[in-house]
Amino acid sequence: MAKSSSVIKDVIDIVKTKETAQPEFHQAVEEVLTTLEPTVAKHPEFVKAKIYERIVIPDRAILFRVPWVDDTGEVQVNRGFRVEFNNAIGPYKGGLRFHPSVNLGILKFLGFEQIFKNALTTLPMGGGKGGSDFDPKGKSDDEVMRFCYSFMRELYRHIGPNRDVPAGDIGVGGREIGYLYGYYKKIVNEHTGVLTGKGLEYGGSLIRPEATGYGTVYFAAEMLATRGNDFSGKRVAISGSGNVSQYAIEKVNQLGGIPITASDSNGTIIDESGIDTRKLAYLLELKNNRRGRIKEYAQEHKVKYYEGKSVWEVIKDEGIKVDIALPCSTQNELNEATAQGLVTAGCYCVSEGANMPSNPEAIKIFQNNGILFGPAKAANAGGVAVSGLEMSQNSMRLMWSREEVDAKLLGIMKSIHKTCLDNAEAYGAKGDYLTGANIGGFIKVANAMLSYGIL
Ligand code: NDP
Repeated sequence: MAKSSSVIKDVIDIVKTKETAQPEFHQAVEEVLTTLEPTVAKHPEFVKAKIYERIVIPDRAILFRVPWVDDTGEVQVNRGFRVEFNNAIGPYKGGLRFHPSVNLGILKFLGFEQIFKNALTTLPMGGGKGGSDFDPKGKSDDEVMRFCYSFMRELYRHIGPNRDVPAGDIGVGGREIGYLYGYYKKIVNEHTGVLTGKGLEYGGSLIRPEATGYGTVYFAAEMLATRGNDFSGKRVAISGSGNVSQYAIEKVNQLGGIPITASDSNGTIIDESGIDTRKLAYLLELKNNRRGRIKEYAQEHKVKYYEGKSVWEVIKDEGIKVDIALPCSTQNELNEATAQGLVTAGCYCVSEGANMPSNPEAIKIFQNNGILFGPAKAANAGGVAVSGLEMSQNSMRLMWSREEVDAKLLGIMKSIHKTCLDNAEAYGAKGDYLTGANIGGFIKVANAMLSYGIL
């Protein structure tokens, strides 16, 4: 055991020493590898082939410049990235993020997580992630279009339907995917499944926009069922108001829960009477068409708005009662203090819609307090799973119905839930979804890597 511990510790230390100034990547590697400890003793073949050392290094990371001209005629320059992390079990697959905070370390954390998440879906997809420090907020449609064209002018040579298939993420929704795909199609002169999240008219899948939010709620429902519980009449706190949050709110309503919060990077609203179907329609129009701020929801519906505060800070500071929490905006939005605030609020289930929204201290608080905790790579895998189904439909040149895709999504989320529990139990961590998810995803990828020899 002493030897096995040093394998994991050494890899973490090397990553921290060699890949400096990438705190989010360090955090993701440490979180995953620490929970892989029980695999070291059981799989000496992984140790011998140095799978642990190899899996933390991307196959390649591409960095490129993205020059474009704004509406005033001034030249703007952004950084573009694509991290192709691991294609052991299928083509690289993972979203593109456009946000000012984007850098190589953040994309490596997201790409690394994506390897295990994609393996959990049961579909043949490797892990990748990309994006730019471009901020679509406040830009005109024409500016976003010119930026997307410039971004694709370089990215096109690195991607392909059997090679690397990007999708959306923060700041990349239907509008951006349309511009990116249109430009790819123009220069490559091929209509193929090279991006997912496409519009329904040009190869998109029904339920893809809904998939991440729905999947996060399905996963929570599975966890609740293990304790004989469900969403009916439960107060649900959801952060963000983008793609994942919107459809998490929709599914919570469908399952009889009461979504009481939403936010954006400026502030939080608390709607005690619930964000019902009618108010959700307003939110979708506000965020997706008018590209407005959450503050306007508070004005329209006469509810409380907390400027500059996250959902989790408001719950803690105002003592708001919550049964279930779905963090759906960004990484590290929950820390020790706000996680403790959720415990005090009476929360007993957390399902992560965003990627790595809980920092390590927050996760400890959840686990130590017996909270059902669904980690991102399991709980939000519904998005990439339906992206995988979009790829299948594109290859087969057909389109499944809404009901078919939703049924497949539900089946995949149930299967991921079972994989987590089975692996947690098999490796001595019964009921620990975090360990189960990491080990479940890892074993599949590690075995595939082993089959290829030393590459
Ligand atoms: P969107 O861009 O549609 O929405 C993001 C939401 O989070 C917005 O409300 C945004 O507010 C808020 N937000 C973003 N950054 C911050 C920040 N630093 N502080 C406070 N609020 C912030 O993105 P998605 O809904 O697509 O993605 C949300 C999360 O889900 C991300 O972690 C993403 O990686 C993850 N995810 C997404 C998937 C998908 O299919 N889209 C799949 C799996 C995971 P504002 O508008 O003010 O910036």
